[in-house]
Amino acid sequence: MNLEDIKGIGKTTIKYLNELGINNVDDLINYYPYRYEVIENSDIDNLNDKDKVVIGGIIENIPNIVHFNRKLNKMSFHLNTGNFIANITIFNRAFLKDKLNIGNQITVIGKYDKKHNSITASDIKFGLIEETLIEPIYHSSFKISSLKISKIIKSVLNHINQKDYIPDSIIKKYNFIDKNKAIQIIHNPQNKEELNKALKRLKYEELFVYMLKINHLKKSKNQENGLSRNVSFDQIQKVIENLPFELTVDQQKSVKDIYDDLISKNRMNRLLQGDVGSGKTIVSFLALYINYLSGYQGALMAPTEILASQHFINFKKLFPDINVILLTGKLKAKEKREVKSQIENGEANIIIGTHALISEDVKYNNLGLVITDEQHRFGVTQRGNLKNKGITPDILYMSATPIPRTYALTLYGDMDISSIRTMPNGRKPVKTYVKTNKEIKDVLYMMLDQIKAHHQIYVIAPLIEESDKIDLEDVYKLEEKMKKAFGKICNVGIMHGKMNNKEKEEIMNEFKQNKIQILISTTVIEVGVDVANATMIVIFDSYRFGLSALHQLRGRVGRNDLDSYCILISDKETKRLGVLTKTNDGFKVSEEDFKLRGGGDIFGVRQSGDMNFKLADIKNDYDMILKAKEDSETFIKSKESQSVKYNFIRNEIMPLANLD
Ligand code: ADP
Ligand code: MG
Repeated sequence: MNLEDIKGIGKTTIKYLNELGINNVDDLINYYPYRYEVIENSDIDNLNDKDKVVIGGIIENIPNIVHFNRKLNKMSFHLNTGNFIANITIFNRAFLKDKLNIGNQITVIGKYDKKHNSITASDIKFGLIEETLIEPIYHSSFKISSLKISKIIKSVLNHINQKDYIPDSIIKKYNFIDKNKAIQIIHNPQNKEELNKALKRLKYEELFVYMLKINHLKKSKNQENGLSRNVSFDQIQKVIENLPFELTVDQQKSVKDIYDDLISKNRMNRLLQGDVGSGKTIVSFLALYINYLSGYQGALMAPTEILASQHFINFKKLFPDINVILLTGKLKAKEKREVKSQIENGEANIIIGTHALISEDVKYNNLGLVITDEQHRFGVTQRGNLKNKGITPDILYMSATPIPRTYALTLYGDMDISSIRTMPNGRKPVKTYVKTNKEIKDVLYMMLDQIKAHHQIYVIAPLIEESDKIDLEDVYKLEEKMKKAFGKICNVGIMHGKMNNKEKEEIMNEFKQNKIQILISTTVIEVGVDVANATMIVIFDSYRFGLSALHQLRGRVGRNDLDSYCILISDKETKRLGVLTKTNDGFKVSEEDFKLRGGGDIFGVRQSGDMNFKLADIKNDYDMILKAKEDSETFIKSKESQSVKYNFIRNEIMPLANLD
């Protein structure tokens, strides 16, 4: 079934869905809600200030509307709740006015302000709510709302027929519900119990499939013979001694780990993890050098063009005599052909590039080592693909998102791990402070100091859920505030998730060129963005982020020898946030994060690549991860996995990694 076949949706809607990455009905069905709104009437007598409130009542007067500009309007009216009369304010819903007549029954969802007895509403429902309502909330855009997406998905729910990846024996073991039923439920839950069952079912499947792949990779690793090399460490030591800096102890240890792997007959399959700026690149260069000395080709794959060309330039500087070439998707056809032929005939010793390294039909001559930077951005599948381009090359993965050892061992069960825990000397830790909203004046003065010193500042606004309309208002309000405070002495820019890529890129470039001094941003600032002159990051409502996410955001500053600052503004959870004031060590931060809170954002603000589970959460579902690991090990060995019925598991999951 195609999107065109769905009743009641036209070309425009299809275009909007496409923009969200939904290209067919399968995509649509697999477009899971990212959270649920559980709507049940609030207990009016026990409401505290700022509580979320759901309350029904009767409209008392004709709504009053104020238009600020074309996009921004505010509507207010009185609601008689039976207990009291509440002032209701809602932004950008002027279009509802005709439906809000005096005497109508409605339910208001919003935030309660006790002092003024008012509610800032995020949504209005017509009629009163009798029982609990669970509404799926989808990532949406300005063009198509979560509600619209929900309606479209509900209209196709009867037609779904998704393949089940959980073997019968396991379904029986856990008494799992049918997969298609589970998908129907997560898009249209009637109550919490059935929703929990459905979520459990689908989460387990994600984890089981992942563990099946990991087990398979591990098994094939043990079966493979690696390359052995004849290189003395003295040769490496010479390069190390001539570096412009001294390697940290952990860097030295990592180089040694890699050296030992490379000269041994066993195939290397190693993860090198360390915070942003901990100096993984030089370690990877030395690995490439060891491999080069032993006569093999080496490849280094980076997640973006910018990073790839940065690595290329730096490698050339360090090893001018080695023939290194750059392969990215951006090359013109002719250049690409030339580069590919150099790779194929072996003229190229080292190849640095992006995805093009695996996605183009590149034939390697004598590929002995493959390194992927920011490994968490690539999937297990891609890991497999790149591997098989050569003979049986050694593999090194690098990741800037440290995770505690226990979790790493489970999730990267097929790999050995080296960790760089200390930052290179000379890098100053980012001074971190927690401030409450009452202390905002202090913060503005601190910002002023930076602006006066001609430095730049990131301001992160609290918008996480991008469909949250109230919060977007907050961003604009924040812009107003910043302009009021600093507008006369510098330029304030704004960037948010609803802008398209081009708009975002433009703003980012202006910030890079110091045309903007204060950048207010709602979304993550892209990986690899490096503005050395930015010395301060101010994060509003920072309690809404996990510590690891905050630590990553903090990594945007402190990129030179200037003092830099991270200011966490929050009235809540100040103790938890305090962890960041005490340490700049990403490993410690992530361990604390795991102890204190769910690990949903352990991989930064966004999850991606391997661990891109749509539903499962590495911390909260850790017990389930362990079960899935055990079950997958048992399954692989079982007769059941050999039966015709499970052919599709073998055919569709295992060979994804292309290992046979
Ligand atoms: P990452 O681990 O994020 O990839 P990089 O390898 O890019 O970090 O290193 C960050 C910066 O630190 C680079 O400019 C690099 O040259 C420098 N650097 C790396 N190791 C050291 C060291 N031991 N002493 C001083 N500077 C170092
Ligand atoms: Mg790096």
